Amino acid sequence: MDHFAYRNRSLYCDDVPVAELAAHYGTPLYVYSEATLVHHLKQIQDAFAEAKPIICYSIKANGNLSIARLMGQHGAGFDVTSGGEFYRAMKAGPSDAKIVFAGVGKSDAEIQFALENKVYLFDVESEQELHAIGAVAEKMGVVANVALRVNPDLPPKTHVKTDTSVKGVKFGLDIETVLDVAKGVVGHKNLCVAGLHMHLGSPILSAEPYKQGAEKGVKLITELRKQGHNVTVLNMGGGFGIHYRKQEALHASAFAKEILPAVKETGCQLVLEPGRFIVGNAGILVSRVVFTKETGGKRYVIQDAAMNDLIRPTLYDSFHRIWPVTPKDTVPEQPADYEADIPGTIKQDVVGPVCESGDFLAKARNLPELHRGELLAVFSAGAYGMAMASNYNARCRAAEVLVTGGTHRLIRRRETYTDLVAAEVDCLK
Ligand SMILES: *Cc1c(COP(=O)(O)O)cnc(C)c1O
Repeated sequence: MDHFAYRNRSLYCDDVPVAELAAHYGTPLYVYSEATLVHHLKQIQDAFAEAKPIICYSIKANGNLSIARLMGQHGAGFDVTSGGEFYRAMKAGPSDAKIVFAGVGKSDAEIQFALENKVYLFDVESEQELHAIGAVAEKMGVVANVALRVNPDLPPKTHVKTDTSVKGVKFGLDIETVLDVAKGVVGHKNLCVAGLHMHLGSPILSAEPYKQGAEKGVKLITELRKQGHNVTVLNMGGGFGIHYRKQEALHASAFAKEILPAVKETGCQLVLEPGRFIVGNAGILVSRVVFTKETGGKRYVIQDAAMNDLIRPTLYDSFHRIWPVTPKDTVPEQPADYEADIPGTIKQDVVGPVCESGDFLAKARNLPELHRGELLAVFSAGAYGMAMASNYNARCRAAEVLVTGGTHRLIRRRETYTDLVAAEVDCLK
């Protein structure tokens, strides 16, 4: 479910015509629907309600302060993967928001910053990290709460670059060694092994991996408790899939069905770290066609959004639905139709202005014939879109707009040429 829909062959975000936004703010432009953001957070809150979960919005999916603030206002905590994300979470969240800190390479400075600012839990990914956190905590005279991140060694479940729970990836502690690592800190004065964490990968379109992961988690928690650790938290991470192609994503209740039994059995506080599920379908990227051309027997649509704005197609071979904002005749009725051979469409590569052959948003895509100046909408671009945007080719990053019912607000201004050089020191001038 999202709040992007065509009315009389014009795309709307809630009650605002997208073409109006493009005219007002320019392109490329990220447009987010507040109603869709809140809807997805609430779907998780409702599905897991009986466990009274702590839902930590994963800031790396989309760190915009207004979006993070909205999440905090609706009861979410935050999952962060760097000191910078921790700072964002603190800036946007209510002062009592719970922050969990994951990532394989936390520096001492980041650890100290998190402890100073009352981090709820560190998700610990290696034995060295565990001891580094212990040492920083000792120096500060505090106790650090940690959850051991286990790699549950499950079969492949998503794109190889985003599968974080198969053997051999850099994430977490091997399931064979996690208990040995835990044994080494029994009775540690400055470390409390308060939880078990796993993040399986993303996007995941089946609940089965969560069932398998949770079952392994229950066994480990029993063993950790036997060692004397007072484990009170089960953190099942994020990774819930969204609608990229059609209506392929599961409802949050499908994941709840597999995760809740483990929560009951262990009596643990449940933590979840959803990012994509909340923000992915809540955002689109709007671009304008600059030129069209035919070359090498292919038809190209060159529009003003590029890999520096949305790198997912290049990085993960991802599919994003694309359609004109104000199509002349055909409007796909079902999301799946975006992939179909709709009469009147022709196969086209949708590319950007960046100087890389890998700069594309779609290849051999069925689209109506497009003309200079026409607007395109790239759907399901709310997660890992702007968050991964760069200034490559000295391109100014796009503006971001939040739509609430019939109103729209700028939540990040378009960058300027001055911004591009602002951090540089022109020392030879
Ligand atoms: C990226 C990440 C998440 C969020 O993943 P989504 O697919 O956006 O839900 C959660 N936990 C950890 C540890 C992560 O690295």
